[in-house]
Amino acid sequence: MTTQPGAHRPSGPRRMHGMPPKHDSPYETDHKQTGTMVCDDCRIVQHGGRWSWGGPPPGETHGGLCPACRRIRDRRPAGTIHVPASMLDDDFTLEKMARSVESAEREEHPLERIIDIEPEGDGLLITTTGMHLARRISAHLARRSHQKAHVRYDEQDEVTVDWNE
Ligand SMILES: [Zn+2]
Repeated sequence: MTTQPGAHRPSGPRRMHGMPPKHDSPYETDHKQTGTMVCDDCRIVQHGGRWSWGGPPPGETHGGLCPACRRIRDRRPAGTIHVPASMLDDDFTLEKMARSVESAEREEHPLERIIDIEPEGDGLLITTTGMHLARRISAHLARRSHQKAHVRYDEQDEVTVDWNE
């Protein structure tokens, strides 16, 4: 009888298209977690490895903090967008745009939230709890300004976006 290496290691290294390999991050969803967790902060529910808004299914639940709330608490963004001054509007509609992207993604990606939108020099710094939301906001910005975003991923599966050469 032969043993296939890796056959019983479903949590082994995974590679996604051009993305860096996954590393253990304290903010990853623990898919081995059993039962139902309700986040103490945002009340989001984890059941069967999935997070969603809305009430928990019947049965026992336990508390804790979801990965998004942990990042917010630790101020440890998964997405960081440096918006240069040249891309800002006078009336700061950019912040409104970022918030509307967030609410459009909210249902399908409950762990993707804006942590903060704050001045950074003459520009703006937008931080998010998830890479997906950072990419969505950056794509909107790039389209509006007709300037291609410069996107970098690091080993902790965090993304930084800027428009510098
Ligand atoms: Zn939460």
